[in-house]
Amino acid sequence: MQSDPNTTYVTQTAPIATETHGGRAKCLQRLVRLDLPVPATVALSFTTVGNIANGELPDVDAVVDQFPKDALLCVRPSSQDPDWGGPGAVLNIGMNDARFENFSKVMGEDAAAALYTRFIQSYAINVARLDPDMFDDVQGEGRRALEETISAYEHETEEKFPQSRRTQLAAVLRSMARAWNGTSARLLRQAKGAPADAGLGLVVQQMIFGLGAGQCGSGVLQLVNSETGAPQVTGRYLSQSQGRDALGGNAEALYLTRDPRGPSLEEKMPEAFETLKTYASLMRKRLRAEMHVEFAIEDGVVHILDGVRVSRSSRAAVRIAVTLAEDGIISREEALMRVQPRLLTELLHRQIDPAAQRDIIGTGIAASPGAATGRLVFDSAEAQASAARDEPCILVRRETTSEDVRGMHAANAILTEKGGITSHAAVIGRGIGLPCVVGASSIEFNPRDKTITSEDGRVFREGDQITVDGSTGQILVGAAKMQEAALDEYFQKLMLWATDSADIKVRANADTPADAQTARNFNAEGIGLCRTEHMFFDAGRLTVMREMIFADTSDGRRAVLERLLPMQREDFTQLFGIMRGQPVCIRLFDPPLHEFLPMDASGQRELAEALGLPRSDVTRRIEAMREYNPMLGLRGVRLGITVPEIYEMQARAIFEAIVDASEDGDAVIAEIMIPLVSARREVELVRSAIDAVAHAVSQERGVEFEYRLGVMVETPRAALRTSEIAPNCAFLSFGTNDLTQMTYGLSRDDAGRFMSDYVQQGVFDEDPFHTLDYDGVGELLTLGAQRGRASQPDITLSVCGEHGGNPESIAFCREAGFDYVSCSPFRVPVARLAAAQLAI
Ligand code: PEP
Ligand code: MG
Repeated sequence: MQSDPNTTYVTQTAPIATETHGGRAKCLQRLVRLDLPVPATVALSFTTVGNIANGELPDVDAVVDQFPKDALLCVRPSSQDPDWGGPGAVLNIGMNDARFENFSKVMGEDAAAALYTRFIQSYAINVARLDPDMFDDVQGEGRRALEETISAYEHETEEKFPQSRRTQLAAVLRSMARAWNGTSARLLRQAKGAPADAGLGLVVQQMIFGLGAGQCGSGVLQLVNSETGAPQVTGRYLSQSQGRDALGGNAEALYLTRDPRGPSLEEKMPEAFETLKTYASLMRKRLRAEMHVEFAIEDGVVHILDGVRVSRSSRAAVRIAVTLAEDGIISREEALMRVQPRLLTELLHRQIDPAAQRDIIGTGIAASPGAATGRLVFDSAEAQASAARDEPCILVRRETTSEDVRGMHAANAILTEKGGITSHAAVIGRGIGLPCVVGASSIEFNPRDKTITSEDGRVFREGDQITVDGSTGQILVGAAKMQEAALDEYFQKLMLWATDSADIKVRANADTPADAQTARNFNAEGIGLCRTEHMFFDAGRLTVMREMIFADTSDGRRAVLERLLPMQREDFTQLFGIMRGQPVCIRLFDPPLHEFLPMDASGQRELAEALGLPRSDVTRRIEAMREYNPMLGLRGVRLGITVPEIYEMQARAIFEAIVDASEDGDAVIAEIMIPLVSARREVELVRSAIDAVAHAVSQERGVEFEYRLGVMVETPRAALRTSEIAPNCAFLSFGTNDLTQMTYGLSRDDAGRFMSDYVQQGVFDEDPFHTLDYDGVGELLTLGAQRGRASQPDITLSVCGEHGGNPESIAFCREAGFDYVSCSPFRVPVARLAAAQLAI
């Protein structure tokens, strides 16, 4: 048999690979090579098991011959990745009438009968595929229960229970091999990322008896806490037991270390405990991982049966990886590779405790991760009033607009009926780290009555408490049990290592000093996008902004903007101060002006009063500004050219802030970005206006300063024409939100309504606002980058749309030669880890 490479006795030398025999077989061989007391084991390869499933058994006699004549055997699955699962283990193969009589003498009849009964039942269910209920009527214990079990088996199968170890083993192998090919098993593992042709290996092992005379039992042990990753010997041990019985909640099971809750293995069997700890430490060191060890004790002697990687929470995954690197067991690079970037998202926010009960009202799109509980409010003013009373609240809107930003800042979470992953609520929510669910159209929204109605007809009113889970998109009744964010020292260390390894930079999209501080705390390498329009919604500014919009002449606008200037200057001075030494890219005003105007009657009445104008005038002007398709209307650079006073004021505020912040000793790297460009001439016009302001401020203040001017590439035409746009600028930043919207001709605010249908029917693989469309939008990015760089080789290239925080998109940007990505501050850690993994 040793000549058959597919059916391998696990020794020090026989070659066994995870790719051919599975992870469990590979791990067992490593334990054998460490001279640990592992029972005799035979590993069957994927090929062999595949053949068994097709009815072609290997030489089972040769397998059986590898074990002592009287030994019982067990078979366990060995898939390539333990997460892919596999059929349950079958223990005690070889048990029969004769062995029952023998064991009765050694361990007593009742114990032997219990063992045999269990084996027959497990064989009946797993191998003969009988209905588990058929043993419900088995009464009593010991020999009587055994006899009833045998008779139930024989009655149902019309066959004698097989007595030969060989026959039993062959049947177990066949049933496990076939179970792997079952539809539900296949779907389950494919959901966990297994390829369609994933193979199964099987491991046949000699049973170590945790039953019988002397100190016998079995248990599991690991050296860390699975929830926190902190060093802590955990596990249980149960005397006179097998397999994973110790974990079954038996009150007799011992703790491993001394424990106030009950007796421990450390106290009862100190030597065995010490031996186990030594073995487990050796496994940690040599297998270079925290291991969950399955062991058995037979007559006082410790045996190691199996080892798998410890299951772990996201938080524990980070701590385990960092600690292994700090202990010199793995390299820092390997530690970085061992943490999935997306897991970090869970650490950055409060989460619903995975074990918590969930009473679900409805589900929408998970737009900004984290969870929060609060009372329902239906407008921004109520949200602010709630915050003033220190009462957590959930802001519910059909959709949000810029006017809701203050309410969003005051709320603990946002829930909207409409919108997709790049809708206003979603972008702001991610930006400020606020849990957000959008497009929850399965819930009925009744803003007039201030109620929402669940899918099953329950009505929730203003003031009722609900929980929003922005990580799953679920809305829950009441207050769910939470888990705190975990930005501990291990997380910080991993982040520092990530920055050292990455070769594409990560900046943050940050609009306020608070965002900038978050970005700084997460070690973002600058601000890649400051959306300045959000600054005009602050208290005291909105009315001034509206006055500016209503001014009839250029001079009138300038006069009002004079009053906004010091406020903008202060905004920028603060940003430069917080980001000192790091680049800050400020995007000039982008949205259409009517977003700043009230659309409802009462708002228009208040505005008329504030401006001292007749109400009809206000209504008429607002009507006149209405656009059929505002996202494609008068916004961005088009406003910059037709209402130049706004950009001039912003440029002046930026330049004066550069001078002020530099006087305070801050090193300032200022970048100014023009949004929604589609033609070279737009850039030339804005550039000369801004240069003129720079010149004027420089003359007035008597100092020279530097700044970089760049273009936001977010229309398909700009992407196609970068060769003529690039010579006018120091950088090109691709706004993939608008670029996706315009490439598809798909409204980013309305796509949520039908996106799930589109994805379900396979029209789109994914929501393109969430995962970059490499084929279409990606081609524009590649073309734009190539043409821009060809005409201006030292130009800086970046992506600042929401895709910037997505690991796959970062890989794409890195390949395409981009210098940095910029994403919401709370996505910076994920992006940094993803960037590091790409470079390793
Ligand atoms: C974009 O369009 O990709 C972008 C970053 O700008 P905004 O989301 O503000 O339109
Ligand atoms: Mg845009």
